[in-house]
Formats: sequence, structure tokens, C-alpha cells
Amino acid sequence: MKRVLITGGAGFLGSHLCDRFIKEGYHVIAMDNLITGDLRNIEHLFKLPNFEFYHHDVSKFIHVPGELDYILHFASPASPIDYLKIPIQTLKVGSLGIHNCLGLARVKNARVLIASTSEVYGDPNVHPQPEEYWGNVNPVGPRGVYDEAKRFQEAITMAYHTYHGLETRIVRIFNTYGPRMRLNDGRVLPAFIGQALRGEDLTVFGDGSQTRSFCYVDDLVEGIYRLLLSDYAQPVNIGNPVEITIKQFGEEIIKLTGTSQKLILKPLPVDDPKQRQPDITKAKEILGWEPKVSREEGLKITYDYFKSLPEEELYAAAY
Ligand code: NAD
Ligand code: UDP
Repeated sequence: MKRVLITGGAGFLGSHLCDRFIKEGYHVIAMDNLITGDLRNIEHLFKLPNFEFYHHDVSKFIHVPGELDYILHFASPASPIDYLKIPIQTLKVGSLGIHNCLGLARVKNARVLIASTSEVYGDPNVHPQPEEYWGNVNPVGPRGVYDEAKRFQEAITMAYHTYHGLETRIVRIFNTYGPRMRLNDGRVLPAFIGQALRGEDLTVFGDGSQTRSFCYVDDLVEGIYRLLLSDYAQPVNIGNPVEITIKQFGEEIIKLTGTSQKLILKPLPVDDPKQRQPDITKAKEILGWEPKVSREEGLKITYDYFKSLPEEELYAAAY
């Protein structure tokens, strides 16, 4: 049985990856310090003999007994309100955390895949964004703690590949959504759905003309799985190229939820990227991957998930 370590395994994406690797017959070790994650995302796996959970901060030395075939480094605060609240931990997990994972990988002779992000492109001047674009990031702006941590993470991962011959993979993830997102993580989808369910107006930041491209979580997981098993060490964008303005997105959520509330405008956060759309040519050519789940389908599943949460949680998420 192949053994995989997934850091950030109790988070949104990490928990879906745990499910996928369990389904593929792996022994899965999830590691998380629960700073933004939730054990409820993985509690259904606790009874399985091929699943283990380590409560540990990966920015500190990592010890895992036994062999490891793969390490997936997904630990990191990921939403703007999270990384603005814990900026130093964000920088540490993107630097010390990945350094620990790479060191562990050398000892175990394991392949490492890192969760990078479309944020390495910053507020892009090239549209859509191909992997060759080097980005437009403000290192000292509020988002710099996340963007630069991820850029460092890519650089150190590539250095271990080049200088130590370590097997590495880099996925640049674009905005992904689905069940197990936190209602109060501040990202636009949980924010809008939470507001609609509580009967509040939906807060559009800026004039809502900024764009994003939303990928359903199952599509992302499939892309990551294929990349891990491929022999391609350069970064690969995984995301859904269907682009939408945030204002249109708000209107879609109003329609989906049937709320009688309206969109209201709030100030745009500093350095909020104006447009974002992945160029997925590489993913198509190298991995034979493209997204399959339409936004309509994915939003319906995600809305049903949020509706099923206890009411106290819905109101606790108001901010
Ligand atoms: P999340 O907050 O749900 O999950 C992150 C997990 O990492 C949480 O369970 C958290 O407790 C854990 N964690 C954070 N710091 C840790 C540390 N020092 N030690 C151990 N565990 C730690 O966020 P997510 O959306 O699932 O994101 C997962 C990864 O994917 C992140 O690396 C993020 O940067 C990347 N990513 C996500 C998206 C997206 O749209 N969701 C887009 C681009 C990149
Ligand atoms: N956004 C918004 N209202 C909200 C939360 C977010 O209009 O209540 C906007 C935000 O300014 C950004 C877009 O939605 O332009 C996506 O934000 P999110 O935090 O989900 O992701 P990111 O900016 O990291 O892509």
C-alpha cells in the first residue's frame, strides 16, 4: 500500500484530497494544527485502518515513522481574512513548513507536491495567466505575506529538485469552491451564500467589475492527482477558465438562493487583483485534464452543503 502525507489535511482542499487517496487505496496520514481547519472534515475517516491524523504544526520539525511515497504540502491559511489575521504563521508555513517537508522527503525518498496559487501572479498584467508569466506582486502590501510565501515555496521546491534531484510537482491553484469551505472564511462564495441564508444584503467589494474563475473541488482534486502521478516538474495551472465578474457572481447567488436581498457595494481591499483566469493549455496537454463540473452544478451542491449546517453556525459566521 502506497503511503501519502497530506499537510493541511483537515482543511477544505486537504480533506477532499484525503478522501481521494483513501478511495485510490492509499495509506493516508493527515497532518494539521487546526489553525483554520476542522476535524469534522475528516472525522468520517478516523475509523479506517489506513488513515492516521497527526495534530502538528508543520513549521516545526516533522517526524513521521515508516515509509512515505508522496508528500502533499497543503498546510497554509488560504483566504485573505485568515492570512491577514495570522501573517507570520502564513510566512512560516510557506517557508519553514515546506523546508521541513522537503527535508522529510529526502530522508524518505518521497515525491513532493506543493499547493501553489494563482496569487503568485499577483494583480496580473497578462490575461489569461499562463505559467510562463512571472507575476505582478506587491511584496510589502497586505497580501504579500501569502503571495511571497508561495513564491518562496515554489523557489525552494525547484531548488531541491535541481540541486538534490528530488521529485517535485507544483500546482498553481485558482479559486476553488465546494463543500467544507468555512462559512466565515471571508472568501466570496461562503460570504455571499452565508449572507443570503441569513437574509442580509450581499457585500460586493469595489464596483464588482473584478473577475475570478471558479473551479469545483472535485475537478481540482482530479487535476492534482494526475499531476502528482505525471513526470512534469514545472508549475501547472489547475483551475476553471470560465471567468465571471464578482457582480455577476453575486447575481447568480441571489438567483440560486432565491433571496430577496440585494447587492451592496463595500470598499475594495488593498491590492485586490482586478482579473484572474487560468490558461490551462499545459494541464490539457500534459495531464489530459480539464474541468467537467459547470458552475451551475457545483454551486447547487455547495449551496445544499451550506444549507445543511446547523443554524448556530450560520449566525456565528456573521461578521
Ligand atoms: P484551509 O484553510 O481550509 O486549509 C488549510 C489547512 O492547513 C487548515 O486545515 C489549517 O489548519 C492547516 N494549517 C495551516 N497552517 C498550518 C501549520 N503551520 N501546520 C499544520 N497545519 C496548518 O484552506 P484551503 O482552501 O483548503 O487551502 C489549502 C491549500 O491550497 C493552501 O496551501 C492554499 O494556499 C492552497 N490554495 C487554495 C486555494 C483555494 O481556492 N481554496 C487556491 C489557491 C491555493
Ligand atoms: N469579495 C466580495 N465580497 C465579499 C468577499 C469577497 O466582493 O464579501 C471579492 C473580493 O474583493 C475579490 C473576489 O470577491 O475581488 C474574490 O475574493 P476571495 O476572497 O474569494 O478570493 P481572492 O481575492 O483571493 O481571489
